[in-house]
Amino acid sequence: MVKCYAASLGNCSDAQSREHYIPKAIWSVPKVNVEGFSWTSENAEPLPVERLASNILCTTHNSDLSYLDAECQRLFNTVRTFHVNQLERRDRPRSSLWQVDRADFDGTTIERIFIKIAIGIAQHEKDLRWAGTNTAAIDPPKEVINALFGKCPLVSPMGLYFATSVGELVTNEESVRIQTMRHPKTDCFVGAFIAVRDWQWFINLSDIEFSQYAARSMSGQQIGKDGKPPVYHLETINFPAKGKLSGQINIDWDRVDR
Ligand SMILES: [Zn+2]
Repeated sequence: MVKCYAASLGNCSDAQSREHYIPKAIWSVPKVNVEGFSWTSENAEPLPVERLASNILCTTHNSDLSYLDAECQRLFNTVRTFHVNQLERRDRPRSSLWQVDRADFDGTTIERIFIKIAIGIAQHEKDLRWAGTNTAAIDPPKEVINALFGKCPLVSPMGLYFATSVGELVTNEESVRIQTMRHPKTDCFVGAFIAVRDWQWFINLSDIEFSQYAARSMSGQQIGKDGKPPVYHLETINFPAKGKLSGQINIDWDRVDR
């Protein structure tokens, strides 16, 4: 039988596909550092990028999401290019001039990319149940699936937060580090910290305010309760160099989704 977490939408094909919830194409190397999954151990060797995939979508629903893979690849390639240019410009004389790197993204699309990664992560956790519906990992809440397939965006406090703090070191190392977040009382899955190449995001897939959680970022900073709030629906990522702007990514949250 075909396993598909989007089965509630209907129209599943009868063919299983292997879903790469982090697209292989974003990596420049065949093996990456992976931390935080139930199947990874600390200080482990880099793992083949093929491991970041599971048989969890039918072919129809997997191909419906191929646009997200393309945008995910564009996002992380842009971040890498802007970061490389930023480092190179930091070494130039203060008087040097350059054309600022600029790129635009649709916020709802980026949010959908992280919903897709979080659902993929959830499938690896033993006995995981979703907050809100108390359903099994393969059966996410309807509003999460509707948001993923672009039918209806998540409503705050659900959604995407940028959780990289000013001053946190971004090395752009080929890595993915995750932390699953659980409900303080029921232990159900509420979302995940997801750091790809040290760029850390948090996707909240429950209607519980982030401020009720005591969470630690990947670098150990207190976030949420008694700590810094992460930034909901981040609009701008700046890449400074020599006190000037080297690159800028703009994220538009008002664009009508396709
Ligand atoms: Zn399906």
